[in-house]
Amino acid sequence: MTGWTPIDCHAHTTMSDGALSIEELVEAVRARGVRPGVADHLSTDVSQAVKSIDGVGAYLDALEPYDVARGGEFCWHDSLWRELPDDLSARFTHKLGSLHAVHIPGTSQPLSMWHRELPNELTPAAYMALHLDELERFAAEMPVDILSHPTLLPLPIRVVSVDELWTDALEERLVDALFHAEIAFEISNRYRPHERLVKRAHDRGVRLSLGSDGHTRAQVGDLEFPLEMAMRVGAEPHSLFDPFVHGTRAAR
Ligand SMILES: [Zn+2]
Ligand SMILES: [Zn+2]
Repeated sequence: MTGWTPIDCHAHTTMSDGALSIEELVEAVRARGVRPGVADHLSTDVSQAVKSIDGVGAYLDALEPYDVARGGEFCWHDSLWRELPDDLSARFTHKLGSLHAVHIPGTSQPLSMWHRELPNELTPAAYMALHLDELERFAAEMPVDILSHPTLLPLPIRVVSVDELWTDALEERLVDALFHAEIAFEISNRYRPHERLVKRAHDRGVRLSLGSDGHTRAQVGDLEFPLEMAMRVGAEPHSLFDPFVHGTRAAR
């Protein structure tokens, strides 16, 4: 197809926990024949991240001179996105929301996806029901364009098979929530979703987005798997999320 170039909507620079400067990222991504997008962590709960509203302004100023999509990866469980003023919000080309931690009823701290055990002796199935409850709250409340890595789950249950974790009913809840909120489903190269779920999202009318979630030169702009998956489930290249065409929720 002529005149179409994929865009990496999710990659990190040294402004959060990435290894490359903006210049280096742009050069590395373009060398792959991909359009660059930066989406650094904007969250008080990620160790290397932009952690304040003033910092978000400086982050956007730093991206402004470059021919790059200006995204940001916000944590659902963190408060920074709730404090973002409209004028700053409007300067993003796109925003990503991530469930890096979820609230578990009866506990005081949100459960991080990298914590080594599940609280309250939760079974994987019981956890998944709570995860979808939280995902529905996220979709209803968070003004973002894209759900990052939709299949990122807590460390202890990543070993459980996809078919055991993701029942038809849970997959339906996920894609319905995204569809109604007009939030795109990211096909992440880092936390790769299973094809059945991507197909279900596409068939439901949820827009698909490509993201490397790259942090290094070897990772940024690597969309081979996400693009191949999008084509396999029947998506048209032009229907894939493009921040310059479909972003941002702030403008809606
Ligand atoms: Zn993330
Ligand atoms: Zn990320």
